[in-house]
Amino acid sequence: MVRVSLEDLYKEVILDHYRDPRNKGRLDPHDVLLERNNPLCGDEIELFLKFDDGELEAISFDGKGCSISLASTSMMTEKVKGLSVEQAREVTESIKRMMAGEEDGDPDALGDLVSLKGVVKYPVRIKCALLGWNTLLEGLAEGQEDSA
Ligand code: ZN
Repeated sequence: MVRVSLEDLYKEVILDHYRDPRNKGRLDPHDVLLERNNPLCGDEIELFLKFDDGELEAISFDGKGCSISLASTSMMTEKVKGLSVEQAREVTESIKRMMAGEEDGDPDALGDLVSLKGVVKYPVRIKCALLGWNTLLEGLAEGQEDSA
């Protein structure tokens, strides 16, 4: 049996999403488009959201940056697509708590996303990992205002 350390597993998942990003490219039509960046690292993303009846019907992103920022955003789109706005917000808050070291991250609820925890050891990278998620939070708020 080959022993794979948790850290290697983290890297595997992150590299996989970096090489083969999910939901990448423009989304048309969309309800919300946000452009955000992380000047500390040079990461830039555009996030496209489409809502339907309180659900995040579709999501995509485009951008450039380091492997952590792109992989984290790719994983995010895969996780939150099809969730209700409320569920998507809960997942995001949970990820933010995990990245702040406030909770371990529940593999049952978060799946592969717990691999982002490997980044907590590298504080300068945490902003990279959270860029997509913070942008999503803004986008969810904007989507809700529009539908209210
Ligand atoms: Zn970065």
